[in-house]
Amino acid sequence: MKLQSIRGVKDILPEEIWKWQWVESVAHKIFSRYGFNEIRIPIFEDTRLFSRSIGETTDIVEKEMYTFEDRGGDSLTLRPEGTASVVRAYIEHKMYAPPSVCKMFYIGPMFRYERPQAGRLRQFYQIGVEAMGSPSPAVDVEVMTMLLEFFNELGLKDSRLQINSLGNQNCRPQYRELLKGEIKGQLDRLCKNCVNRYERNPLRVLDCKVEQCQEVARNLPKIIDHLDDESEKHFSEVQNLLTIAKAPYTINPNLVRGLDYYNMTAFEVTSENLGSQNAVCGGGRYDTLVEELSGPPTPCFGFALGLERLVSLIPFKEENTDANPDIFLVCLGEAAKVPGFQAAHELRLAGFKVERDYEMASMKSQMRKANKSNCQFTLILGENEINSGKYILKNMNNSEQHEIDAKNLVSEIGKSLT
Ligand code: ATP
Ligand code: MG
Repeated sequence: MKLQSIRGVKDILPEEIWKWQWVESVAHKIFSRYGFNEIRIPIFEDTRLFSRSIGETTDIVEKEMYTFEDRGGDSLTLRPEGTASVVRAYIEHKMYAPPSVCKMFYIGPMFRYERPQAGRLRQFYQIGVEAMGSPSPAVDVEVMTMLLEFFNELGLKDSRLQINSLGNQNCRPQYRELLKGEIKGQLDRLCKNCVNRYERNPLRVLDCKVEQCQEVARNLPKIIDHLDDESEKHFSEVQNLLTIAKAPYTINPNLVRGLDYYNMTAFEVTSENLGSQNAVCGGGRYDTLVEELSGPPTPCFGFALGLERLVSLIPFKEENTDANPDIFLVCLGEAAKVPGFQAAHELRLAGFKVERDYEMASMKSQMRKANKSNCQFTLILGENEINSGKYILKNMNNSEQHEIDAKNLVSEIGKSLT
């Protein structure tokens, strides 16, 4: 039996991990400027956390969750997203009173039972950000501009910010009914999925990807034309601050998110280079979720971005040279065994990246491996070198070589490597 990874689940191999590590380090750097700190949340939670927060009628809860019963009979779910867990942790640890807003981010795998295809996996990675504790539109805009700054730092040029307002509890229910009524008259023009869900979740018809539905959606009433004063004011302040921050954006009145907890601002960042799975990042304001999960009233704003899609968009040019060894050790003959081991140990303790051949093969074969390793230098130890106490250091760029004193390996190699 040949065992293979699960469909829709991918290994990230050592040869490409540097891209991910770099993206993550840029995230740490940029997010910390805005006061965000990392939180590590569990991979699995009580199933009810997700069904209650994401919403019973969403695609995720209806058909995408990896839910299982553990040996004690509890229903657990592999997290399909991170916000629910962050909110659960926020309440559980009473993180209510930070100096200002409680700002956290997470990086890690999410799990959704979807149809695997390019850009759509069953285990995929997200970076997510949550700012908890303020209703200010300044928070919305700071988080969105932080995201744009992050993308900018990654060298992404063609990303586009689209925003919309989903209103609040005062205006959305009326709009929902209005929308339902309008959709009812055009059911024969909608896809099966939309026909099935329009009663329970009519807003999803607005962003259905099926061409025919999009045509219908174009002429359906827009929520931004039915906002109450508070939502209207919030949305216009968001736009004003985005303009002040010189952050280019477009309003997409059909943008709704696939999770129930959003209100007011919703946004997506898309890229033309991603084809049909073109959203890199989505987020928005969720002012009632903390309360719905039995915490105190806490208005929040956050987003989640897909790392596979993001990494695929970055114009990486060079090979990664960071992983290349500084020194490749060539040890020849029985006599070199122990001194070779010692030299590698000593050099690594001093901070050099050292690779070596363990088979003590011929000079030719070891030099071939040294070449392949893309090392800067090879250090050669044969019988003569060990007897004289002078090893040979060869510069692999210009093939120059000179003797160095075995007793002062670290300092002499340090001089050559600078
Ligand atoms: P989509 O519309 O592509 O299904 P979504 O609205 O379900 O996305 P969110 O739940 O908001 O996405 O997740 C945020 C981001 O996570 C997406 O923009 C995308 O980059 C990424 N993402 C979501 N689902 C997957 C998946 N199955 N495989 C890879 N990346 C994903
Ligand atoms: Mg989805």
